[in-house]
Amino acid sequence: MPSHQSPFVKSSDDTPDVEPADLVLEERKQAAVYCLKQVNEPTLRSNIVELGMVRNLRVVDSYVYLRLYVGVHQLSLKEQVQTALGALKWCKKAYVEICTIPGVRTTLAISSGKGGVGKSTTAVNLAAALKRTGASVGLLDADIYGPNVPQMLGLAHSAVEVIETDAGERFQPLEAHGIKVMSVGLLAAPEHPLAWRGPVLHKIITQFIQEVAWGELDYLLIDLPPGTGDAQITIIQESPICGVVMVTTPQQVAVSDVRRSIHMFRQVGVPVLGLVENMSYLICECCGNRTSIFGSGGGEQMAQELAVPLLGEVPIDSKICHGSDTGQPLPLRDETAQLSIVFEAIAQGLNNTFCSNPRLVSQSL
Ligand code: ADP
Repeated sequence: MPSHQSPFVKSSDDTPDVEPADLVLEERKQAAVYCLKQVNEPTLRSNIVELGMVRNLRVVDSYVYLRLYVGVHQLSLKEQVQTALGALKWCKKAYVEICTIPGVRTTLAISSGKGGVGKSTTAVNLAAALKRTGASVGLLDADIYGPNVPQMLGLAHSAVEVIETDAGERFQPLEAHGIKVMSVGLLAAPEHPLAWRGPVLHKIITQFIQEVAWGELDYLLIDLPPGTGDAQITIIQESPICGVVMVTTPQQVAVSDVRRSIHMFRQVGVPVLGLVENMSYLICECCGNRTSIFGSGGGEQMAQELAVPLLGEVPIDSKICHGSDTGQPLPLRDETAQLSIVFEAIAQGLNNTFCSNPRLVSQSL
């Protein structure tokens, strides 16, 4: 074939040639996946492949390359991975790159199919509920389309400082009610949209995830942008997210968008922990009766269809807005409010699943 042949000219034989070498590599990759599935994470009682911790797996000749996305308490899994892959006779060396957020144990994402369903409200109230269980919590507002977490926590006009650490320059997170907070909104001029695109967006998000001095955290909650675009995928791929909490409302439109988002998470291998149905019902202040003003059963139906648990049904509560203005989330102001009770139950469920810290688990039993 002449070397200047157009890449658009079809070859006479349309059937793609599969080189025997490719087949060998594919078989080796499958064998590597089999070995990796033998490595279990003890607290989560599942293997590291199912948990979405193994990514970018490649086999080149007799070498295996992979990234292992873990919390700071799971670094010893690297050695177990090396041992498991050592069982492959053809494998001369396995290169395992650890990807973690310094100081952070469990990273969870809060997501939604579309905007306005209460994703940030859920992130803020869940962070507060986790804080109430005694956990150390950080909240990363990565919603580039509507970063309103600082406002909800009363930090809207705060300036972010850059500090010098042993690892280089880092953003110093702000703190509200004992929750550490960082937001893309704090990096832009107020009232200006964040018009980042393509490689710039990718670079900024990656830096943003890696370059915050969180200190020691039990949980880092990431408030994702809504939907399934570039920004979401970059954040998911670049961070050690252990699971996603999907927020929806009972309305059908939100419900069909959430279906798309859940498929996206499954495609990239990140476990979906469950659904939160926000604005499920209104409680009458006089008689305590519940009214499902946006219809009922959407979350339940979606949870069944997609085989994910329904983590909670959050009522509409006008006090949430007062809290948003003063910056104090409802679970920290009124633990008896139905909304606080729902978030406390979700927080306890997360502690029971993710926390090997007996202090938090025993409190939540
Ligand atoms: P998203 O992050 O999905 O765009 P927000 O969390 O910003 O949505 O919520 C949108 C608006 O709805 C906010 O004004 C918020 O205070 C209000 N809101 C959200 N959930 C509730 C709720 N359960 N009860 C009352 N108001 C709510």
